[in-house]
Amino acid sequence: MKNLSQSFRSLFFSTKCSVCGKYIETTTQYICHECFKVLRRKSEIKNIDNYYFLYYYDEDIKKIITDYKLKNRKGLSKEISILIKKPLKELIREKRINIVIPVPISRNRMKERGFNQVEEILKELRIGYKTIDRVKDTEHMYSILEEKKREENIKKAFRNNWVNANEKNILIIDDIVTTGSTIKEVVNEIRKKNFPKEIYVFSIAMSKFFKK
Ligand SMILES: [Zn+2]
Repeated sequence: MKNLSQSFRSLFFSTKCSVCGKYIETTTQYICHECFKVLRRKSEIKNIDNYYFLYYYDEDIKKIITDYKLKNRKGLSKEISILIKKPLKELIREKRINIVIPVPISRNRMKERGFNQVEEILKELRIGYKTIDRVKDTEHMYSILEEKKREENIKKAFRNNWVNANEKNILIIDDIVTTGSTIKEVVNEIRKKNFPKEIYVFSIAMSKFFKK
């Protein structure tokens, strides 16, 4: 039976599930047991050529990524990590990945959020990575729907000063791939001075607007 202090605890120390909104009696979890089970079931790795991903960008994953990035729920990195751990590590092994590169966020975004959403997950999973620089503060990509404008917005946004990708298998990681224009720009930048063996992409979610 619950004692009084436990009841008080659950009153003040509970969180709303990021997916269904139900209260969970914990402050270390953000996804309830039921929703987590569903996400687990859906988290099978899929691919469109070299683009690998776990989820189609549906309502559930959208809520999780929005909470994680924009609603100060940095702790969600733990639960997201659990979901992507096995498929991501398998992909790295299978494709003999030499260098993992998270898509960098702009300085403004870093100031707003305080963390890079992908790097946080990689740290959680103890996956080593190398960084390229973001040299342009861009508009939020999600606010731009037109493909041409997205390409214009992201153009020359990255600079590779450090990563020697010659003869290496590269894996670029992002949270969501929408039209693919961000990734294409990262790939262009890596290929500018290097000749990588192969470049792969991994994202948590993939939009249905994506076309290779
Ligand atoms: Zn839930």
